[in-house]
Amino acid sequence: MTETAQMRRYDRLYIGSEWVEPHSGRVIRSIDPSTEAVWAEVAEADEQDVDAAVAAARAAMTGPWRTKITPTQRGALLLKLAELLRRDADRLAAIESRDNGKPVRDTRGEMLRAADWFTFFAGAADKIRGAEVPVGASAHAYTRRQPVGVVGAILPWNSPISLSSWKLAPALAAGNTVVLKPAELTPASALELAKLIEEAGFPPGVVNVVPGFGPVAGQALVAHPGVNKITFTGEHRTAQKIMATAAGTLKRVSFECGGKSPYLVFADADLDRALTVAVHSAFRSTGQSCSLASRVFVERPAYEEFTKNLADRASRIRVGLPTDPRTHIGPHTSAEQLAKTRSYIDYGKEAGFRLLTGGGRPAGLDRGYFVEPTVFADVDPASRLAQEEVFGPVLAVMPFDTEAEAVAMANDTRYGLVGGLWTSDVSRAHRVAAQIETGLVSVNTFRPILPALPYGGFKMSGIGRENGLEVLDAYTETKAVYVDLSTTDPADPFRD
Ligand code: NDP
Repeated sequence: MTETAQMRRYDRLYIGSEWVEPHSGRVIRSIDPSTEAVWAEVAEADEQDVDAAVAAARAAMTGPWRTKITPTQRGALLLKLAELLRRDADRLAAIESRDNGKPVRDTRGEMLRAADWFTFFAGAADKIRGAEVPVGASAHAYTRRQPVGVVGAILPWNSPISLSSWKLAPALAAGNTVVLKPAELTPASALELAKLIEEAGFPPGVVNVVPGFGPVAGQALVAHPGVNKITFTGEHRTAQKIMATAAGTLKRVSFECGGKSPYLVFADADLDRALTVAVHSAFRSTGQSCSLASRVFVERPAYEEFTKNLADRASRIRVGLPTDPRTHIGPHTSAEQLAKTRSYIDYGKEAGFRLLTGGGRPAGLDRGYFVEPTVFADVDPASRLAQEEVFGPVLAVMPFDTEAEAVAMANDTRYGLVGGLWTSDVSRAHRVAAQIETGLVSVNTFRPILPALPYGGFKMSGIGRENGLEVLDAYTETKAVYVDLSTTDPADPFRD
């Protein structure tokens, strides 16, 4: 990596613990979304580079990683990586903010949380075990949990380091090797993570990092016969393509895709707390999160006042430069995402929904992909604004009259990632939680994300779960072993 005042250069890929030039010699030009200027050039992997990375990862599956290093030592390596992430949190946060535009107050927290993920799964590394299966006195049967093999991890651009930890930590804890492809829009921080992986002392080929374009490097990884499993976060249409390609080799796949998360506020809730959490949950990360509370439903008696307060609080969110520690939300990560958000704002205006705040470019920010937090009330629940994932800071607020109606509206979407409800009625809390069709339902808070808590979607929001000890199932194959203990001759059905 070289650096001038204007430009960082990451001119190597990380393959087999070597820093290698990309086969094509090409670079990805990464744009700082707050200035719209190229701030980094990053080596671009093509099919040959992916092939080399998979070969290194396969070789590592028969090397010291599998033959010498004990599960407890694997855990120690993960703990070391966690320690290095904490040490370098400020530096990595600055790079991540430059690449994807999130404020440093968010990215710093993401680095520390990524360290927590590695810490959690470090503890799991030597506790992954099979079970004895009772089959009677004449045999001993048990299951073994073996690594799946080479894991291809494909990342989106919204939280690269955080989501790297969601994939790397359990995959490595279970003894797999990984080829990691970050998104073309945010390729830098994954290579920074690779430096820490090298420093931590993981054996060659255990982790390989190949920035590149989805249809080239991503596609090559998915199609590669040497890759056993793909773990992907991103759009469901991409997941569909990946699933079709992965069918060729019957790869294991897990997908974490988009969402249109419902946030139900019953009139008996603590409305002040519900308001504070709603504002953060709807607008954090400039709306670029799969688990955004992007549909807020409020029970009619509380609707007008809650909606007015929501708009007031949204109008006071500080939109600014990611480097400014006072900034609440930064720019969109890309011009494309800004254009997408604007198109939904235009649509909401044309559809005649009540625009309570936002809708334009924040004052004083003439460059960069900035947009104001925007609140539309009285949105038609069947409209595109209430049905489609904007991935921007555009909130749709709608009233409801009955619990049954609230549940029906919450579930009236093709997505099913996260849902939240606010009520002081404990019976209703459990009743509604049971009916909401999402992989995570929170009551009187929103979207708790913890390494111990399984996370993933119903419906078009994905397949499989990340996090929680359950995710280790997705990174292991179960092998049943049956040992015959009998001393008598085997039955011979073919004798007579
Ligand atoms: P994508 O699904 O296109 O990208 C996610 C990752 O998949 C990227 O690394 C991308 O590569 C890669 N990819 C693209 N095509 C292929 C392919 N054919 N085979 C293998 N890998 C591929 O999402 P975007 O980043 O373009 O974002 C688009 C939308 O997705 C957003 O507007 C949002 O709605 C949603 N999204 C959801 C996220 C979530 O957390 N659930 C995160 C990010 C986006 P590359 O980008 O390098 O081309």
